[in-house]
Amino acid sequence: MDILQTIPGIGPKTKKLLEKLQIYSAKDLLYHFPSRYLDFSQTKNISDLIVNDVATIKAQVISFVNLKTRRGISMQKIMVSDSSGQIQIIFFNQDYLRSTLKIGDKYSFAGTIGSFSGKLCLTSPEYGDLHTGKIVPIYPQTAGLSSKLLRKLITQTLSLYKLPDLPDPIRTKHHLEPINDSLLNMHFPANYDKLETSQQDLAIREILELQLRSMYLKQSWDKRRVQKVLIYKKDQEQKIISSLSFELTPSQAIAWEEIKTDIFSTKKPANRLLEGDVGSGKTVLALLCCTQALANSTTSVIVAPTEILAMQHYQKFSTSVDSKDLLLLTGSKKAKPDNNPKIIITTHAIFFKDEALLQKISLVVIDEQHKFGVAQRSYFETKDTSPHILTMTATPIPRTVNLALLGHLDISTLSLPPGRLPVKTYIVPQQKQSDCWNWVDTQISSHKSQAYVVTPLIESSEILDTLSAAQTTYTDLREKLPNQSIALLHGKQRSAEKEKIMADFKDNKTNILVSTPVIEVGVDVPNATIMVILSPERFGLAQLHQLRGRVGRGQSQSYCYLFTNSALSRLQVFAKTNSGHDLAQFDLENRGAGEIFGTLQHGFATSKLAKTSDLELIKKAQKILVDLKPYLSKKDNLLREITQVALN
Ligand code: ADP
Ligand code: MG
Repeated sequence: MDILQTIPGIGPKTKKLLEKLQIYSAKDLLYHFPSRYLDFSQTKNISDLIVNDVATIKAQVISFVNLKTRRGISMQKIMVSDSSGQIQIIFFNQDYLRSTLKIGDKYSFAGTIGSFSGKLCLTSPEYGDLHTGKIVPIYPQTAGLSSKLLRKLITQTLSLYKLPDLPDPIRTKHHLEPINDSLLNMHFPANYDKLETSQQDLAIREILELQLRSMYLKQSWDKRRVQKVLIYKKDQEQKIISSLSFELTPSQAIAWEEIKTDIFSTKKPANRLLEGDVGSGKTVLALLCCTQALANSTTSVIVAPTEILAMQHYQKFSTSVDSKDLLLLTGSKKAKPDNNPKIIITTHAIFFKDEALLQKISLVVIDEQHKFGVAQRSYFETKDTSPHILTMTATPIPRTVNLALLGHLDISTLSLPPGRLPVKTYIVPQQKQSDCWNWVDTQISSHKSQAYVVTPLIESSEILDTLSAAQTTYTDLREKLPNQSIALLHGKQRSAEKEKIMADFKDNKTNILVSTPVIEVGVDVPNATIMVILSPERFGLAQLHQLRGRVGRGQSQSYCYLFTNSALSRLQVFAKTNSGHDLAQFDLENRGAGEIFGTLQHGFATSKLAKTSDLELIKKAQKILVDLKPYLSKKDNLLREITQVALN
């Protein structure tokens, strides 16, 4: 039983309210941090008070009157005094206070001093020692669960419950306060310096938890087994490689060797992350491993983040694989797989929560994983088996982050194929935009090349607005560039329509594709050399980089135009570099690691403190982890204890 059940004052009703706040255990409650604080730390004499003071007074109740206002509201007028003077206190609708605040007794009151009919007064003050005389916390509200009650419950919990802590020598060596002290200071900071130290300490602990969790994931992953051991089929490999119009680059060849040692002749399921900048050629590795699964008479699955990308993979695979061995399974195409082994290309991992089908799946490729939670992977796991998992991402992951948080994955990295020219990027202010359209017009006509025009993301939730922005741009452009054949693509179109629009663009039947950010990920049309992004300030660097990655895929020079008057520094940086790694580094330094963890959706979604500029904290946590390792091997459950929150 969790200690939370034993805290006086937590009956079934309060328990329900706490659950609304995702609080199920004492630890959850202690990690429910204030959204802000009220500083009642100054205690004053009544005669020293002036209007707008925020202060605590200690005073005796001398009279208590219950009134009804003309609008029927009940009002409590209480006169209090200390040795220096008197002040009026007013409450509303709290008749019960008569029995709480007794005439003749002394209490502490705190609040902001106001005035009424020319006299100072204190309206609805906090009272009682727990809520006055110090910096007090205000919590995110839920109906029925006041900050007052939470303060009481949290104080009680802190006095009854000692959280599992790091071993003392480690804690002192790394200058961390005992965890209970840090938590106490988060809720009732002795002063603002203490608050800051506690926030830092807890953020480091949070990162450490993630690191431990990553270790734990690896340990439990290593205990899993595959359903069927795959055997290397050299013929199949040769067949696929000879069907390609290019040779593997050295980094693709290395990654393929690494994947091969992962997936062949072993019972241990692979868990590899293939990281390669946009356009680096990840798809061919997916093709190579899926066709090996097929040659072993087993089914493999590719999970793509969008339908458009799934269709594109399907088409690419069709040039190397017999179409009877392929199955496209998306929101609008829900054919049930027959009994033959297949390569299934899909958009939803959830289709696979089917035991019979799961038994047949030997390998899963998750493409552009930054669009997925790690949870996707779990759809493919049975109780103790798992297929081989290859996750592909273009999100550049700085080394520190890799080491710190992705220790449970094996990583392969691709570099760009040779002969690619860096995309030239320009910021185009409004007065130059019409010239730019003219240039795009001539460029397309004279080079037979193609352009994307991406319209702004209005708000990820407001699909309709994003759609109308695309539609308006489409109509405008048709007027502006009457010689070009222009198409409009967005996520709400039916899939047959999308398929046709993409196919026409791929075959160069349309020159310009106006699109919502749906094309962000993965789309590959090497003949397209121009990318125009409207309102680029609405996109994050990672997204802009993905968008720009749609061009620069062939041998010709490509261009990216950012239509904006914004002087944002990240746009300047973006225009100067083509390197995804440099951009990620910039994000890391300017917006903090949280951004990257957020995109990776790696546990940080639930983190509370470790959000911004945490590179230093990651380094600190890593040092602690090194010192902690001998303890972990000695005391197995320490890992579990410390990671309690992350794991349950
Ligand atoms: P991404 O890593 O972004 O998924 P893709 O797999 O879509 O990249 O590949 C990008 C483009 O590069 C495709 O047109 C693909 O055919 C091409 N490509 C892949 N590998 C090579 C290679 N070794 N040499 C030349 N072009 C390649
Ligand atoms: Mg791709």
